[in-house]
Amino acid sequence: SKAKGKNAYFLFTQEVNLRISKRLKLENDMRQALKNREFTVYFQPKVNLFNDVVTGMEALVRWHKPDGTVVSPADFIPLAEETGLIVPLGEYVMDASCKAMQLFEGIGCDDISIAVNLSPIQFDQEDLVEMITEKLEMNGVSPSKIELEITESTLMTNVEKSIAKLNMLVDMGMSISIDDFGTGHSSLYYLKNFPIDRLKIDRSFIRDITTDESDAQIVETIILMAGNLGIGVVAEGAETKEQIDMLQSFNCELVQGYYYSPPLPLEDVIVYLRSEGVD
Ligand code: C2E
Ligand code: CA
Ligand code: CA
Ligand code: CA
Repeated sequence: SKAKGKNAYFLFTQEVNLRISKRLKLENDMRQALKNREFTVYFQPKVNLFNDVVTGMEALVRWHKPDGTVVSPADFIPLAEETGLIVPLGEYVMDASCKAMQLFEGIGCDDISIAVNLSPIQFDQEDLVEMITEKLEMNGVSPSKIELEITESTLMTNVEKSIAKLNMLVDMGMSISIDDFGTGHSSLYYLKNFPIDRLKIDRSFIRDITTDESDAQIVETIILMAGNLGIGVVAEGAETKEQIDMLQSFNCELVQGYYYSPPLPLEDVIVYLRSEGVD
């Protein structure tokens, strides 16, 4: 059994080594990818259910490897956060979003906002406000066109500091959405005290909304509560007509999901907007 133990230890260290080298490779690949401009930003429309108008787009980063594969952010954002690479990557996403905004305005879409995700590391950066200001000014984009998506857990680690930071961003003219709402430790008290404009109801609540009575009730309640607090809502991940109908019956204002469109490369977003005939 001593031999067996030794063997298990060998397998264990082998596996750890393998995992570490995989990680190092991914980290190295990401650094290269940033230099080689392998990251691009896709945009997914948010649609107003009352009048079917596109009101905004969420910026979602993609990694196009030279071999033609596309890596999902779920597979590299966590490592980007651990290694700090999320900071230059986030700057790139903000810059690309501002450039997309110029294009939207160029085709006459003046009322579309772009929502940019901020991970905890980005939100905590001392120079976040300067970074955003620089990108906005360089590209001639008004802060009122930019929405920042932040998760509850990001805000809850240091509530006082978060409120101060949010106030700075809001004072600049940007709006704030709480991302993945309902999956964290939602606290109504903080909800009241954070200067936020919108809740994004997590896809996990929308997925079974037409078959799961309690999910439907949760979503309806969040929409009612948000309305009472004067906060907007976006339902994330609606894929079917049935889900849209139900959300409409709950007076849900905005929807983002495959039913309307998946995230699209910029060229396709422009085509989508043109076909929408948005003014
Ligand atoms: P998220 O912020 O919750 O973004 C929404 C995710 O839901 C996106 O996945 C989007 O493609 C997906 N989605 C939207 N509608 C539907 C639908 O109807 N059905 C299904 N099955 N999925 C839908 P994506 O693009 O893979 O992004 C995953 C996560 O990666 C994002 O979740 C966000 O947390 C993170 N992420 C993406 N881009 C950035 C970025 O630029 N910066 C940071 N910090 N995080 C990002
Ligand atoms: Ca988001
Ligand atoms: Ca989300
Ligand atoms: Ca999510």
